[in-house]
Amino acid sequence: MIVIMKISATENDVDAVVSRVQKQGMRTHLSVGEERTIIGLIGDERKIDRGALSRMDGVDRVVPVLRPFKLASRDFHPEDSKIAINGHSFGDNKVLVMAGPCSVESMEQVLETAYAVKEAGAHLLRGGAFKPRTSPYSFQGMGEEGLKILAKAREETGLHVVTEVMAPEQVDLICKYADVLQIGTRNMQNYALLNAVGKTNKPVLLKRGMMSTIEELLMSAEYIMSNGNHKVILCERGIRTFEKYTRNTLDINAVPVLKELTHLPVVVDPSHATGKWTLVKAASRAGVAAGADGLIIEVHPHPAEAMSDGEQSLKPRRFAELMHEIRAVAAAVGRSA
Ligand code: PEP
Ligand code: MN
Repeated sequence: MIVIMKISATENDVDAVVSRVQKQGMRTHLSVGEERTIIGLIGDERKIDRGALSRMDGVDRVVPVLRPFKLASRDFHPEDSKIAINGHSFGDNKVLVMAGPCSVESMEQVLETAYAVKEAGAHLLRGGAFKPRTSPYSFQGMGEEGLKILAKAREETGLHVVTEVMAPEQVDLICKYADVLQIGTRNMQNYALLNAVGKTNKPVLLKRGMMSTIEELLMSAEYIMSNGNHKVILCERGIRTFEKYTRNTLDINAVPVLKELTHLPVVVDPSHATGKWTLVKAASRAGVAAGADGLIIEVHPHPAEAMSDGEQSLKPRRFAELMHEIRAVAAAVGRSA
């Protein structure tokens, strides 16, 4: 249930509603918009007398939230959420680009990539130090050593770092080095992990499960948000379909659907969505044209030698060309990049 206050409601009116609801054993979350305040009710709604609540001073209307997600819902927070990172904001007019290798492999590899993507105009550096690999025999990532390399690259280039966290017990360690915590597709429904990142104050890049619906993605965002961390960036990274030519199928519909349902920023990962570097350009353009707030793209100085995902990694020169295209598409849809 959400309580939509009148434009003329005073702070006292809002406080009175909050304390009445809390006395009935529910938690509240305030969404203070430019025009009006919306109060989200969290918990068991059965004890709430909707009629009495709607007659309180300053209350415009009390609306049941029919969707299972609340804090993530646009009903509750009509304006786009903006998530600030290093002077940039996800969810603003500018399309933000995160770029870098799939895996951190060495200091030279990361620094070379970081300088190149920065030069081309990327806003954040990506790179995995803990890698969720399908096979236990594949390279599992450099671990903390890799995090230190990412932190060094941030120090040298000024690019903030997004990196994956795979388990609740890794959260503190990763928070020491990273600026954005990535939850990978395989962990989208790892609820212990979602609860753990929800207790931090770092922005979270939440990737859609490869076999998850849009509603399940939003319920996972809800887990993080209900722990107090509202800085969630959603990522469409392709889902499994019967099509085998590409690694996954980019569900481009997810971008406008999410924009309708939620106020959270939405980004597209054209690298994992296609699995082929030759397709990354078209998928990136499509993502931006569909309204994505950002892209996360794999770039490697020597893709043929990459320890993971070389087939879908762009060389720095191709990434620079792609940035030009992204800027042109962004401008065509009234944004910048
Ligand atoms: C990655 O970003 O390298 C990654 C493993 O992504 P996903 O979880 O989407 O497969
Ligand atoms: Mn990868």
